[in-house]
Amino acid sequence: MFDRRSEVREEKRMAQAIAVTKPVRGVLEIDEGLSRFSTQEMYREILRRLGENPKRDGLVATPARVEKSLAFLTKGYAEDPTKVLRGALFDVDYDEMVIVKDIEMFSLCEHHMLPFFGKVHVAYIPKGKVIGLSKIARLVEIFARRLQVQERLTRQIADSIQEAIQPQGVGVVIEARHLCMMMRGIEKQNSSTVTSAMVGCFRQKETRSEFLSLVRPATHTGI
Ligand SMILES: [Zn+2]
Repeated sequence: MFDRRSEVREEKRMAQAIAVTKPVRGVLEIDEGLSRFSTQEMYREILRRLGENPKRDGLVATPARVEKSLAFLTKGYAEDPTKVLRGALFDVDYDEMVIVKDIEMFSLCEHHMLPFFGKVHVAYIPKGKVIGLSKIARLVEIFARRLQVQERLTRQIADSIQEAIQPQGVGVVIEARHLCMMMRGIEKQNSSTVTSAMVGCFRQKETRSEFLSLVRPATHTGI
């Protein structure tokens, strides 16, 4: 038999369940509300929501440690790549390929805030100016210490070298492993992602192959 009362009860129950799962306010309003809490208070709340007891010995100092470590891992936002390069440009009469390979890179993917890490290879053919070699590693560091996607990181390194010294061309290759894929079991554990950005004369087949043969073992010819 049709029971109107139980139907109304059921509707109420559903409405309550939806109200709990759906955000009640807009994202911006919630942000404003949260700004009065310290970062450490918010990490304590996250720990609580994970089912942990933030007061237990091992976790008491964790919010402070996480805050400090995340600040370090994203310190690239506060650094200006143009300024770093400006102080290290030299006039030269040299037009062969300059290569800096195997630069260690650690970054955080912006989708999961999990690490991706690997090696960066950078090359360029000068047109009157070169960059101090250590500054290329610095440049990689500045862009890597931000929330990133590998493709953009590759492109930003190439573009900022191009902008700083207007060389004949720039090539950047990054080989990296992503913990968001490895730990979550989406991809094979040993798979690595290779990205490249080629500017100017590095778009020509000969220059590009010379660069790639110098930085990558013969078995990798996928670019
Ligand atoms: Zn990710």
